[in-house]
Amino acid sequence: MADPTLAGRPNTPAVELAGIRKSYGHHEVLHGVSLAAQDGEVVSILGASGSGKSTLLRCINMLEIPDAGTVAIQGEAIAITRRPGQPPRPADMAQVGRLRAKATMVFQSFNLWSHLTILENLIEAPVHVQKRDRRECLAEAEALLARVGIADKRHHYPAHLSGGQQQRAAIARALAMKPSLMLFDEPTSALDPELVGEVLKVIRDLAAEGRTMLIVTHEMGFAREVSDRVVFLHRGVVEEEGPPAELFANPRSDRLRQFLSREGWKTSAPR
Ligand code: ADP
Ligand code: MG
Repeated sequence: MADPTLAGRPNTPAVELAGIRKSYGHHEVLHGVSLAAQDGEVVSILGASGSGKSTLLRCINMLEIPDAGTVAIQGEAIAITRRPGQPPRPADMAQVGRLRAKATMVFQSFNLWSHLTILENLIEAPVHVQKRDRRECLAEAEALLARVGIADKRHHYPAHLSGGQQQRAAIARALAMKPSLMLFDEPTSALDPELVGEVLKVIRDLAAEGRTMLIVTHEMGFAREVSDRVVFLHRGVVEEEGPPAELFANPRSDRLRQFLSREGWKTSAPR
């Protein structure tokens, strides 16, 4: 279990989950999941649809509150109040707000604010939540949009962008928070095939600059290439984990072997 006093020490994981359990009604979907990512590490999370991948990511930034277990970000454990007969809830919403800015999420469906321009989407949280200087945020946002290749779209509304451009905007928006950890939930699954590559390139560049990331993906070739470690989730349990070269070449469990073969990763051309 993460100890809050460990914050800032070397070897403190960027994120550490211990014994995470989560039920919806009587259906337990996470049965005690533990995993950690060190600073600079890229961890991919694989698993069939319904295995609990999204729920797990959502437990990290408290979009779902775990029924049991701990989440610590940079050594700071998130305080959760659990009382018999009541749903669990964060003990301190200010802490959750602070930690959410450290662990930003990129969703499958982009989740940009449709009534705001791309530039406004990027500065919204930095200005209104983080209370940073608007002009400084605007300058940073412009630089981030240039970086993901959509500077010319800054005054457009999300609906006027392609899916690939919207997802690159969403990644820029996540970066605008200056996160210590980025969470990606199937960032390319909603995209037309020809737009997948442009988004994977942005994520690959982030990996190359040493960003700490947890990535849920069905892009097997991509996961193998960018990950330092791969975690295979099966029905709410970590079934297998290890370095990608090992795990993809020589899966130990039959379930992972079956999963990989269903994903057809060997036959898919590298992007
Ligand atoms: P994955 O992302 O791996 O496809 P999810 O974490 O979305 O899996 O879902 C895991 C299980 O939890 C599934 O059976 C799903 O139907 C169920 N589930 C997810 N979210 C909810 C919810 N808000 N209410 C009820 N059941 C849910
Ligand atoms: Mg999911």
